[in-house]
Amino acid sequence: MLPEKSTLWTAVKRGLHRKCPACGEGQAFRGYLKVVDTCDHCQTPLGLYPCDDGPAYITMLLVGHIVVGPLFAFEFFWKYPLEILIPVTLVALGALTLAVLPYVKGGFLGLVWHHGLKQRR
Ligand SMILES: [Zn+2]
Repeated sequence: MLPEKSTLWTAVKRGLHRKCPACGEGQAFRGYLKVVDTCDHCQTPLGLYPCDDGPAYITMLLVGHIVVGPLFAFEFFWKYPLEILIPVTLVALGALTLAVLPYVKGGFLGLVWHHGLKQRR
């Protein structure tokens, strides 16, 4: 039996915690980014809800504002030589992107699940 529909924010919040957006108990992912086929707690077919490129775009938007924004806002960053500033910025962008992406994908899964946007077969 499928759980009752929850509010959008509840579904997104459960997804941000990488839990099933329907019940909030089962794991929504196996591994880093692979969505489970069905929730092991409530049997919701999470594998039917495609996330595609949405989480990547949202992650780039967030990380870009977190890393690149301060570079332009705080002048002291530009006192470092470019040989240091560019590699440090690129590593920060890459590391933060990889750290944030799984949680954003969970939130996006919650959004897609809430709106019932199943994959066509
Ligand atoms: Zn579940």
